[in-house]
Amino acid sequence: MNKTIIIGAGIIGMLTARILCKAGISVTIIEQGYAGQESSWAGGGIISPLYPWRYSEPVTRLAKWGQKNYPENLNEIHLNSGVDPEYTESGLLYLDIEEELEQASLWEQKQGYDFDTLSGEDLRRIEPGLGLAPDSDKTGWFTPSIAQVRNPRLVRALQEDLLRLGVTIEQQTQALSFISEKGCVNGVLTDKGSFYGDQVVVAGGAWSARLLEKWIKTPKIAPVKGQMIVFKAEPGVVSRIVLSKGRYVIPRKDGRVVLGSTLEFNDFDKTTTDDVLQELRQEACRIIPALRNYPVEKQWAGLRPGSIDGVPYIGEHPELKNLYLNAGHFRNGVVIGLASCQLLVNQLLGQKAIVDPIPYRLTEERLVSDSKDIDLRLAI
Ligand SMILES: Cc1cc2nc3c(=O)[nH]c(=O)nc-3n(C[C@H](O)[C@H](O)[C@H](O)COP(=O)(O)OP(=O)(O)OC[C@H]3O[C@@H](n4cnc5c(N)ncnc54)[C@H](O)[C@@H]3O)c2cc1C
Repeated sequence: MNKTIIIGAGIIGMLTARILCKAGISVTIIEQGYAGQESSWAGGGIISPLYPWRYSEPVTRLAKWGQKNYPENLNEIHLNSGVDPEYTESGLLYLDIEEELEQASLWEQKQGYDFDTLSGEDLRRIEPGLGLAPDSDKTGWFTPSIAQVRNPRLVRALQEDLLRLGVTIEQQTQALSFISEKGCVNGVLTDKGSFYGDQVVVAGGAWSARLLEKWIKTPKIAPVKGQMIVFKAEPGVVSRIVLSKGRYVIPRKDGRVVLGSTLEFNDFDKTTTDDVLQELRQEACRIIPALRNYPVEKQWAGLRPGSIDGVPYIGEHPELKNLYLNAGHFRNGVVIGLASCQLLVNQLLGQKAIVDPIPYRLTEERLVSDSKDIDLRLAI
């Protein structure tokens, strides 16, 4: 194989391109909008699933591989691109998980993470800005090794890195269908003409099923909107990622604080709403009261590529040879993305797989004719 076409320039398409390119493969990415401007731009960049003990083993395996290998990869991307993705080990502090404490501790011990159970006094000491009463006996739970990246910077760094490596990114070019001969894909038809390659990878995020279902059976992938806000705060207002009752605050290096996020099931609609703005602002101030002194600088929404169990689809499509998929990363595309791209490249290049590929395959049971018949609420 010497030429691959990738559909979609989100984090998944770009990381796949990077690994292939470094292995000597010529890569063209086809992107209907602009590189890295969809879910991969919109996300929080936490390099851990939220409440990781709730996820299945296949998600955990990819997450752990990513957590181990991100520092070196991001350092290379930073050096080659000149853009700092702000990889920061800020640690993840959980509040209000009393009911799950035992399950969480057992899981983290088994997986080999360091964690501390914190008393109210410990909490006030390590994160003085938390909204705790002075005599609160609330307990917290802290995993110090969890890191974050800043998504808009990560996608900019990746794009610049790819351009310097020699990857072609065709922006504002929409893939419409596949070119095939005798059940074998050898190209992509777009609104700007045809592109030929030995293999085609669909990394179209939330739009992947919409492209596939016109032609062949598709895995279950549907958009799940997440709205976020960012406060223009100052360094020191909060230092750790804090997760409480499904909402999280993420402190960025320059003092800005991101608050996320909603889970909304309303098709491809990315509009933001005032009621969510008010609700997110209120939640942010519940977790860190000092945030009420700072303005909300921006509100936005992104469409997660939702899949039934959060396990992405990675591998060759059973109906068309040389057509591969890497999509459906749902809430965890950053943390599990690096491993999922490496696993796909292992398959494309006939290499030994970094993890067992079977749970991610596009088996008949995981394919449907119409991706609208999916209840993604099951996945949360
Ligand atoms: C609010 C929010 C918070 C999140 N927080 C986190 C987090 O903290 N940690 C974490 O790990 N994950 C998080 N995620 C999830 C993560 O961002 C996604 O799983 C990940 O970005 C998916 O990457 P992707 O490349 O598959 O999709 P995308 O980034 O959406 O990229 C897909 C690309 O394909 C293009 N495309 C689609 N169809 C076509 C076509 N026919 N032709 C050409 N181009 C096409 C699109 O334009 C798009 O650019 C969050 C997501 C959201 C929305």
